[in-house]
Amino acid sequence: MSGPRSHAAGPGAEEAPPGQLRGRRAFVSLGSNLGDRARYLRAARDALDALPATRVLATSRVYETAPQEREDQGAFLNQVVCLETGLQPPALLRECQRIEREHGRVRTLRFGPRTLDIDILLFEGEQSGDPELTLPHPRMVKRAFVLVPLAEVWSWARGMPDLDIAGLGRAAAREQDVTPYDATEE
Ligand code: ADP
Ligand code: MG
Repeated sequence: MSGPRSHAAGPGAEEAPPGQLRGRRAFVSLGSNLGDRARYLRAARDALDALPATRVLATSRVYETAPQEREDQGAFLNQVVCLETGLQPPALLRECQRIEREHGRVRTLRFGPRTLDIDILLFEGEQSGDPELTLPHPRMVKRAFVLVPLAEVWSWARGMPDLDIAGLGRAAAREQDVTPYDATEE
């Protein structure tokens, strides 16, 4: 299996019934390397699903990865979720940052340890070079811990750039270990 998968859901596919939410899709990455990491990821999924006009459509498996930019810290758990949301991108970012704060995130070192990191990877129909909210997320195409879980939920993509996520993920995974994480360990 190579080349892009059939990720553009055709018209009519997976549409919500009339009267239900019909927002835009976004892929969001979750990361934690402090405290009860699996619990922080679960809390993030629940909090995202509870946002106004927003629901979680799909979740990847959870992966464990060694820290990259700064190596003097514990391993991360990472996961990618697909949302459908009526929020605009800046509002979604504010909500993600609020959820991080409410779960003990203290911003100290860049790339340092954190209870919860929520990044917006891709947002349907949006591209932006704004440093406050860069879309697609500028570092996602090199990160196996983003690409491997993203490939699992990529069939939910709609209105996204034409990227071969599975191929990029396989290439990145040759350089960086990403291990499926067994939730019963924590
Ligand atoms: P990082 O996720 O890079 O480790 P932070 O979570 O502290 O670091 O985010 C740093 C800044 O990145 C935030 O203030 C935010 O405005 C900005 N940012 C730019 N693009 C994005 C994006 N796509 N998703 C999340 N944050 C982003
Ligand atoms: Mg972040």
